[in-house]
Amino acid sequence: MSSATSVIEPVVFRWHRAEIVAIAPVTPHVTSVRLRCGLAAAYRAGQHVDVRLTAEDGYQAQRSYSIASAQDGSGTFELMIEGLPDGEVSGWFSQAAAVGDHVELRGPIGGSFSWDGPDGGPLLLGGGGSGVVPLLAMLRRRAQGWRQIPAALIYSVRTRAEAIALAELESLAAADPNVSLHLATTREAGGRRIDAALVGDALARLGPPGKVFLCGSNRFVAAASDLIMAAGVAPGLIRTERFGA
Ligand SMILES: Cc1cc2nc3c(=O)[nH]c(=O)nc-3n(C[C@H](O)[C@H](O)[C@H](O)COP(=O)(O)OP(=O)(O)OC[C@H]3O[C@@H](n4cnc5c(N)ncnc54)[C@H](O)[C@@H]3O)c2cc1C
Repeated sequence: MSSATSVIEPVVFRWHRAEIVAIAPVTPHVTSVRLRCGLAAAYRAGQHVDVRLTAEDGYQAQRSYSIASAQDGSGTFELMIEGLPDGEVSGWFSQAAAVGDHVELRGPIGGSFSWDGPDGGPLLLGGGGSGVVPLLAMLRRRAQGWRQIPAALIYSVRTRAEAIALAELESLAAADPNVSLHLATTREAGGRRIDAALVGDALARLGPPGKVFLCGSNRFVAAASDLIMAAGVAPGLIRTERFGA
C-alpha cells in the first residue's frame, strides 16, 4: 500500500530544494528572486509554485508565488515578490534573503491559469499590482516565438514607480504593434481605476479576445471581470487567479 502510494504520488506534491542565485529590488516594494531548481525544467507561463521556509527551530511557513519568467533552458526561474508590511514570507525575501540561501519549492501549479503559444489568442490580460507577474510570464513566452498573437495588457497599479517591469512592458508595447499596454495608476494625480473606457480601448486595439487572464486581489479580479463581461466578452473565455486580500 505505502509503496504503491509513493509510486503514484504526483510530482507536483514533492518539495524540491532550490537555491537563490540572484536577488534584486525591481520597485521600492518588489524583489526579483531567481532560483535554481529542478522544477525550472518544465513549466507553463502563468503557473505558480509553493515556497516553503523553515526556521532553525523547525517552524515552517509556505506561500504561493507566480513564476515571472518564461522557460529558457537555464535551469532557473524568476519570482517577483512584493514585501508586505509584517509579511512573514514576503518580508523574509525583501529583507533577509541572499544569494546562496536555500528554500523549498513545489509545483508548478495552476494548469488552467497558464498559456503557451499553441493555445493561441488574441490575449486579453488584466493585472492588479503584483497580479501582473504571471501575465508578464505570458508576454515573455509570447516574445519567444509567438509574436503574431495579438496581446493587450490592462495593468492597474498604485503609481508608475511601483509598476513591475514597466520599462520592459513599455518598450515591448512601443516596439511591437501587436502588443498594447493600458496602464491605470490609482494613486497618482490624474490617475484612475480601471473602467469601461480603459477596457474599451484595450478591446479596440486587440479585437475580440480568444483568451482572457485576470490576476490580482479579489477586488481587482471582480471589477475587471465585470467590466470585461459588460463589454461583451463571453464569461467562458475568462480565467482568473486571486492573490488574496
Ligand atoms: C496563486 C498565487 C500566486 C501568488 N503570486 C504572488 C506573486 O507573484 N507575487 C507576490 O508578491 N505575491 C503573490 N501571491 C501572494 C502570496 O502568496 C502571499 O499571500 C503574500 O506574499 C503575503 O504573504 P506573507 O507571508 O508575506 O504575509 P502574511 O504574513 O501572510 O500577511 C501579512 C499581512 O499582509 C496581509 N496580506 C496577506 N496576503 C496579502 C495579499 N496578497 N495582498 C495584500 N495583503 C495581504 C495580511 O492580511 C497581513 O496583514 C500569490 C498568491 C497566490 C494564491
